[in-house]
Amino acid sequence: MDIENLMSRCTLCPRECGADRNSGSGFCGEGRTVRIARAAPHMWEEPCISGERGSGTVFFSGCTLKCVFCQNHEISQEGKGFGVTEERLAEIFTELRDSGVHNLNMVTPTHFIPQIVTALELCGDLGIPTVFNMSGYEKPETLEMLRGKADIFLPDLKYFDSGASAKYSGAEDYFERAMGAVEKMVEMVGEPVFGEDGLMKRGVIVRHMILPNHRHDSIALMEKLAERFSSEAIMVSLMCQYTPVYRAREFREIDRRLSAFEYRTVAEAFGKTGFGGYLQHRESADEGFIPEFYTEP
Ligand code: SF4
Repeated sequence: MDIENLMSRCTLCPRECGADRNSGSGFCGEGRTVRIARAAPHMWEEPCISGERGSGTVFFSGCTLKCVFCQNHEISQEGKGFGVTEERLAEIFTELRDSGVHNLNMVTPTHFIPQIVTALELCGDLGIPTVFNMSGYEKPETLEMLRGKADIFLPDLKYFDSGASAKYSGAEDYFERAMGAVEKMVEMVGEPVFGEDGLMKRGVIVRHMILPNHRHDSIALMEKLAERFSSEAIMVSLMCQYTPVYRAREFREIDRRLSAFEYRTVAEAFGKTGFGGYLQHRESADEGFIPEFYTEP
């Protein structure tokens, strides 16, 4: 993969900001060199991803969205992280695999996909699934680079309303971009497949985190998903861990946790979709962002 050429006028994400990342950085805040902030087994993904031995997560620095409530804002928007070569990234992937994790999990990888593909090619067959844990703000052409490399996609689906996505994430076109991305992901990896151990081997789990004062948006999202995807095509993970952090304090309507009513009404809408998946316990918001998942919607 010609990384330098792709970086010379970057159009990897829907921003298509055209930055020369060989000499500078783009809207995502990142240049040519891969930067990561953490690589370690992680126990707090959905149960079919974390299993008993954890998911081998690599947190990439930078992000193509600017969510005002980002729980990882130090990494995604404030520059935390350190540079690694593709060769070192391949070693990190191998070291994580050797630690016994169930899968390799790339968190916020979009702006480094060419480098990640190169590192995976250096690794050869790792023998465990690769998970791409993404914001949902993706281009199909960039996702296509992952064909044969990605086994599982965990895309967010954050908003239906373009006013909300513009206000809180700086992306008015978020919903259609994210729905198109989910379609592309389903086309690439197919319906969910599980091993005898109950762990996911292939497939797509769409994640949605309910925001306070936005239950109608969440319900609309559930309905739109059910219109566009069969109940066999995807799984859905409804997350209730929202806690007002980072710049959320600047927006009065999202400066609180979810109410029981909001949680219950969106959970009911989720139940009507027929999608399999996960419903996160509302009390998770009180547990230092550690998601706790139930296995039934
Ligand atoms: S990945 Fe970064 S540099 Fe590339 S188009 Fe998106 S925001 Fe711009």
